[in-house]
Amino acid sequence: MSRPRIAILGLHLEVNAFSPPTTRHDFQQQSWAEGEEITAQARAATSALPAEIPGFYARMDATGEWEPVPLILITAPPGGIMAPGIFPEFLEIIQTGLAAAGRIDGVYVASHGASRAAEEADTDGAVLQLLRDLLGPDVPIVGTLDLHCNVSDRQVELADLLIAYRTNPHVDMRERAAEAADALRRILETGERPETHFIRLPLTPPTVTLLTAEESPYADAIRAGVLAREEDPNLLGVSVTGGFVYTDIAKCGLCVWASARPGHVGAAVDVAERLSNDIWQQRAALSRSLTPIEEAVAAAVAVGTDTALPRLILADVADNPGGGGGGNTTALLAALHAAGARGVVFGVLVDPDLAAAAHAAGQGARIEAVANATPGPFAETFRATAHVRALSDGAGIGRRGTLAGRAFSIGPAALLELEGSGLLLAVGSLRRQLLDPAMLEILGVEVEAARTIVVKSRGHFRAGFDIYATPDRILEVDAPGLVSPVLSRFDFRGLPRPVYPLDAEASWG
Ligand SMILES: [Zn+2]
Repeated sequence: MSRPRIAILGLHLEVNAFSPPTTRHDFQQQSWAEGEEITAQARAATSALPAEIPGFYARMDATGEWEPVPLILITAPPGGIMAPGIFPEFLEIIQTGLAAAGRIDGVYVASHGASRAAEEADTDGAVLQLLRDLLGPDVPIVGTLDLHCNVSDRQVELADLLIAYRTNPHVDMRERAAEAADALRRILETGERPETHFIRLPLTPPTVTLLTAEESPYADAIRAGVLAREEDPNLLGVSVTGGFVYTDIAKCGLCVWASARPGHVGAAVDVAERLSNDIWQQRAALSRSLTPIEEAVAAAVAVGTDTALPRLILADVADNPGGGGGGNTTALLAALHAAGARGVVFGVLVDPDLAAAAHAAGQGARIEAVANATPGPFAETFRATAHVRALSDGAGIGRRGTLAGRAFSIGPAALLELEGSGLLLAVGSLRRQLLDPAMLEILGVEVEAARTIVVKSRGHFRAGFDIYATPDRILEVDAPGLVSPVLSRFDFRGLPRPVYPLDAEASWG
């Protein structure tokens, strides 16, 4: 096929069913792109689009003629279930776009894979169903997925090939998108449709146990999948996804799938079963004990007084906005301030009212800072006398890890220095996790000078802050929040039960 016409679409949202609903405004604030605007952004020097999209365009551009048919690409920060109306509108835009598009030779779906709508639990399956209904069985559909996706049997049946990221923190989106582009070209050239063997385990590991740079059954399985593919050219893909338990739906769970050339599905079955078995046997390793707040504070006090100790990072994992947390809990902040820990930089506390108050007072002002004037879930009111050290519109360009080279905004922001402890508190207005030092540097923070850095992030900060502390100096703190790794604290309604680690009796095999 000389100049294939490829439809492009995607829905990037990780749903935490315990968080407040995700609204249309949340998408519009981050990214809601339709039609040719997608192509323009994909080929621009920097864009707010998920990195898969520029990655897919670049690979397709480099490998021959093609014609993008961009339909719709929407992205919102991780949050609650999509409010009524958004998902039907998304589907309608796809339908209208395809009706007007004429011939379509292939489709690339760049979705996160853990969305959920008021109208539909299996949103990603419903998107693929619509595509098949409109395009028929012969048009190849290739997709990429985040490692924290929830995958239904229907998705696997309807798509030709689904490719998940391999890295957590996620730094391989462009590579996986390039793989999707190559797979699509291959299917169009050979006419060979991949065959997939798919396994979902009754296993919902907390996300803190799914880092791929550490030794863990999960990281081992991903590496084994890569190795299997290198050894057998008939294997076209091996994916191992940890799932996102907080979406709280029937398809939650750790998934393993392998795809092979037609006639070679046996190889896919072998590798998927082998990796699933290995993970299941070692499932006890997919749990993690967190550091109690008192211990974390003691460590911060120690490192603040003894400069011979290497720098410390405290991860406020339970309030990670990247998993649907509010970014506004203050339990750890209050404890550090009360203990007078020195050299602490804390970010990013999400409080638009406090940021606005700092902007109104002006740089250099001394203010009575109030965070969470109206308390929210797990977000208690915190008061301190503070000096406004810096103000910013909150916009910047990421410089390390998952955000490198991409535009970000934390909204109107301020750096407050708390009287008494000297703690530097970065306040933002948009719910974003602190995963790149640039998010502090836009406020003039010298990250290097900090003794303790507190990040409201679950794991992605590791790719951005790796230059400031070694993994043994990173403590995951057991503070309260909407995305606590302690799963027994949640009232799950939709998970398949029994499921490990919530139900010790869960069985498989
Ligand atoms: Zn993820």
